[in-house]
Parts: sequence; structure tokens; C-alpha cells
Amino acid sequence: MEIINCPVCFSKSQRKIKTKFKTTNIFSCKQCKTSYASPFIKEEFDETYASTGSVNSTGSAKDFIDDLKSTNYEKGINTSAIYLSTFTKRLNYWKKILGKKPSDKLKILEVGCSTGLAIESLSKLGQNVMGIDIDKDAISIGKRRNPNLNIYFGDIIKQKDIGPFDVIFASQVLEHFFTPLELLVKLRSLLKESNSLIHIDIPNHDSLSSFYYKLRPTSKRFGGIILPFHQIGYKRKSLEILFNKLEEKPEILKIFSCTNNHKSFGQSFPSPSKLKTSIVLNAYYGLSKITNSGGLLVAIAKF
Ligand SMILES: [Zn+2]
Repeated sequence: MEIINCPVCFSKSQRKIKTKFKTTNIFSCKQCKTSYASPFIKEEFDETYASTGSVNSTGSAKDFIDDLKSTNYEKGINTSAIYLSTFTKRLNYWKKILGKKPSDKLKILEVGCSTGLAIESLSKLGQNVMGIDIDKDAISIGKRRNPNLNIYFGDIIKQKDIGPFDVIFASQVLEHFFTPLELLVKLRSLLKESNSLIHIDIPNHDSLSSFYYKLRPTSKRFGGIILPFHQIGYKRKSLEILFNKLEEKPEILKIFSCTNNHKSFGQSFPSPSKLKTSIVLNAYYGLSKITNSGGLLVAIAKF
């Protein structure tokens, strides 16, 4: 079996930590402690993508929207309103660290925009926004919902004639790349020369739920690694190393673990009080917060 170097720090020094996966093993880098599948299982990834039209571990865009409709809408949960609230706070934060006035308009790109709920909110907030996604279904669902949405089907790595942007953000995207540094280099190239931001979030390999999945002998999941969708398990240090590998080192403003329902940096989830599972969820979020092991790793870097 071919053995690859660490996809984050490129070190050859590694330790096998799990061998039970059919066509691959899980290794941990001795240098930076990132975990990863070696070799990557690209065929299965491509096949799954071709059959579901999605790189999401949670299913296709259509399933996602059906799920939102059947659960959230019936319970009176307004998903758009939750997005608007999250992105109002996040936009204020971006403007503050870029030294902009509240009335200034930012040029913003979302990579992996799915059906465009975040783009819609930022556009309502008067910003100059654009979204891109490799999930064709998600883009057409978004366009059907709102024909004026500035979202496009495409591969971010191939984009040349867009930008430059003040802010590029990507939620749950980096973990789907086999060459994460290539994505960061691309995002940097689409940003304004200076006073611009990259804001990403990814699954936390050291989260409370990851800890549970490291103990459980399942065949497809180990911590933040969910085969074939996520083949790299990121820690805080992994992100720091990746950003510092850029030719021009950014100022890393934040790298932290955050609960999925965080009001500014989370995933625009409804508050647990609206859900049946509120007691369990509240306990989970509470414990994640206390132990500093939320489900997300958020990184914000300024150039
Ligand atoms: Zn490494």
C-alpha cells in the first residue's frame, strides 16, 4: 500500500493508529499530530460524489433541503432568520477588524455556498456578495428559491477572473480537499492585496463527538475523519501550520474550537430550545464549551 506524507506539514514521520479500514489506514503525523487516511481513497470519493452529486457526508443538497422543510419549517423555525442573525453578527466582526465603517460595503465570496442561505443574508445586509459551489443541485435549488442570488456552479481552484475580495469564507469545505494548502493558496490569490480576510471553519478532530468516535469501532468514522468524505482530521495546530506555509504569512487573528450553534461563528443552527432533543443538545453544547472541544474549528487570518 502506498504511504503518503502528512498532507498538512509534509512530514514523512508518522504512526499508524488504525488499520481496520478496507482500502486504507489511518496515520497520525508525528510532527504536527494531524490524522489522515493513507493512501487517500480517491476512487470511492469520486464514485460517491458521482452518485449523490454531493461531497457532503450528510447527503445531497436535495436531502438537506427536504430535511430543513420537514423538520424546521413545520416546527415554525425560520432558517433564513437564523442565517440573517448569524451573518449580521459576523459581518460586524469582519468590518471591525478591517477597520471599516458600518455603512461600508464589503466584497465577499463564499466558497461552498450550497443553496446560498448565507449569501442571501449578506446580500440583504447590503454587501457585494458571490457564492460558488461544485454541487450543481444545490446551486439550482438556490436559484429556484431566489433567482437573483449571485451563486454559481464551479470549481474554486479553476477560478481566475473573480475578485479581488475583502473577505472569503468557507464553511465545512477545507476538509473535503486532498491538498488543503492548494485551496488556501487559491483563496489568498483571490483576495485584495492587503486588509483582507480568510475565514474558515472545519470539523474539529479534537471535539467531544470526535472523542466518542475515536473510541467506537465503526468502519467509516474516526474522530473528524469520515470516509470517504473527510480524509484528514484537523487539530488547531494543523490550521496554524497551513496558514504559515503561505508565501506571505498572514496575521492569524483566531484559531479556536467553537460549538456548532455559536451565535457568530457557528453553522446557523436553530437554538436547542426549539428542538425535541433540547436537553441532550444543551448538555452537549455546554460540555463542549467547558472542555473547549466544540464541533468546529474556526480560523480567521488577515493579510
Ligand atoms: Zn504533519
